Amino acid sequence: MIIPDWERFVGDMGEIFEDVRQYDEGELATYIPQLSRVPPDSWAMSVCTIDGQRKSWGDSLKPFCLQSVSKPFTYALVHDDIGAEALHAHVGQEPSGRLFNDICLDHNKKPHNPLINAGAIVVASLLKHNTPLADRFDFMIHACRKFVGSGYIGFNNSVFLSERETADRNYALSYYMREHNVFPKDLNLQDTLDLYFQICSIETNCDSLAVMAATLANGGVNPMNGERVINNRACRDTLSLMYSCGMYDWSGQFAFHVGLPAKSGVSGDMIIVIPNVMGIALYSPRLDKLGNTVRGVKFAEQLVQKYNFHNYDSL
Ligand code: GLN
Repeated sequence: MIIPDWERFVGDMGEIFEDVRQYDEGELATYIPQLSRVPPDSWAMSVCTIDGQRKSWGDSLKPFCLQSVSKPFTYALVHDDIGAEALHAHVGQEPSGRLFNDICLDHNKKPHNPLINAGAIVVASLLKHNTPLADRFDFMIHACRKFVGSGYIGFNNSVFLSERETADRNYALSYYMREHNVFPKDLNLQDTLDLYFQICSIETNCDSLAVMAATLANGGVNPMNGERVINNRACRDTLSLMYSCGMYDWSGQFAFHVGLPAKSGVSGDMIIVIPNVMGIALYSPRLDKLGNTVRGVKFAEQLVQKYNFHNYDSL
């Protein structure tokens, strides 16, 4: 067993979970109206180890949209499909030092990385490029089902419609990128943005999201059914980017203090990957000024105080 004293570990995790509940500052995302209407106090956490031990706390079956937590998975799937070189001809690997939806490109006139909006929209444009939009969405949602195994994956149409109605920033970003020839040839911009919004609106819950994170912790193989979802190299590159760019403009601080690959989304979800050990999913919709879930970040900080999971703790 990868966690020898499971009972004790579960006890400690539950204590941190309850302690973190006290942090009720932060605001719900309001720029997507549907996201501002969720119960603000929800708090959920689930863990799944690479040998299939699982435990959940709080509202772990409550559905939420992946939002930006979809970004590492879309990246991993496109990487697995077309390879790093073709993918990174369109997007860099550098933290942007800006907010997730800032209108800026790097010095090569490419998006800084695939985990901010600009980069993720470009990655969406590469996902099964040149096939009908319906097939591209099918590919993505089926792949999400492979990541979760028998868990829950759905689609929240009202969040999709709500986001599409209020997406001026993402349209602006996309026109700016098209001006700089960031996209592949024969781009259908509206299709690409629709696909991007649809991917953000894919729904899951903490219990299932932990299995998605555990699949990344396990080198791309779903620990619950042994099925390979992405190749090792795609998994490695995804984790590298999550380590350096996964928490928006808090990524450097997070890498320093917590030292683990992670990704957050504006719905208040977050994954933390402890490579070769486990995936952790968290959900609490109140966000800090940078767009990260307040409780999720607090949890991560307390986790590495209790357990030596920081990347450099083993030194
Ligand atoms: N769908 C959101 C957007 O594009 C995703 C952003 C996020 O989760 N940070 O604005």
